[in-house]
Amino acid sequence: MIFERLCIIGVGLIGGSLSLALKQAGQVGEVVGYARASETRQQALDLGIVDVVADNLADAVRGADGVFLAVPMGAMASVLAGIAPHISDGAVITDGGSVKAPVVAAARAGLGDKFKQFVPGHPIAGTEKSGPSAAFATLYQQHQVILTPLDETDTDALRTTRAMWEAVGAEVTEMGVQQHDAVLAATSHLPHVLAFNLVDVLAQHDECQNVLRYAAGGFRDFSRIASSDPLMWRDICVSNRTAILALLAEYRAGLDKISAAIEADDEDYLLSVFERAKAARDARFTE
Ligand code: NAP
Repeated sequence: MIFERLCIIGVGLIGGSLSLALKQAGQVGEVVGYARASETRQQALDLGIVDVVADNLADAVRGADGVFLAVPMGAMASVLAGIAPHISDGAVITDGGSVKAPVVAAARAGLGDKFKQFVPGHPIAGTEKSGPSAAFATLYQQHQVILTPLDETDTDALRTTRAMWEAVGAEVTEMGVQQHDAVLAATSHLPHVLAFNLVDVLAQHDECQNVLRYAAGGFRDFSRIASSDPLMWRDICVSNRTAILALLAEYRAGLDKISAAIEADDEDYLLSVFERAKAARDARFTE
């Protein structure tokens, strides 16, 4: 068994799914859950996501040998500072936050000499749903989890965190904090910003209902991620602003060139961009 008593702070899609998966794998004794709202805690209890709930951070982490943080990015710093005095020596602390630099900075500031017990992590798995009712045990199977350990990270804590994710069927890789945030800005954060913006722009057309009625296939695929939780994505954008702004500038420059090519009837340019993009995608994905 990996953890005798695991504390999950934030019992929504990411935290709830980890709890369900570890329970199903028989890798956890008792799971203690915490969320701000008592209704959320009760829901997690009713759904069997956690065994007990605590109504404050101190009681939640006391006596736990593992602590998993799955709260929105904007709540990470206050939660880390709030749990620090109450965490057992030697407990493994890890998280699932989507941007690593701010969580690492908050953990360094908040955890003090327990910072070495903290293993920053990010499961590359999710859906557009949130809250306890969105959690399911198979979320992490055959998905990647990126860990971004620091020089000071305790090797046993790292080994345990890796074992936890492998126990729920994930493939674990490690990379640096900055590299993680740059890679995720490109593969996840920028596409979400584009999808939110596309749907927002189209929704402001007077004839929006007509536009969306005829939308199928490509539009549905491309716009699906605009159903994601707006608060979560607001937090991610401001947490990873440097990397996202750099990519948005590059993207805007690309769009400007496409605009100019359309205006100038520059068919060769359009074809060269589309062919390059198709080749790059076909080389990576089959569907
Ligand atoms: P979620 O379903 O909305 O769950 C968030 C949980 O945190 C809820 O239980 C919420 O309950 C609780 N919470 C919010 N503020 C809190 C606070 N100040 N103190 C304690 N609990 C608090 O969100 P999620 O999708 O699981 O995302 C959780 C984290 O995982 C985020 O950092 C996100 O960036 C990351 N992540 C998400 C995905 C994804 O696709 N969804 C993928 C990878 C990583 P209350 O509101 O009642 O407090």
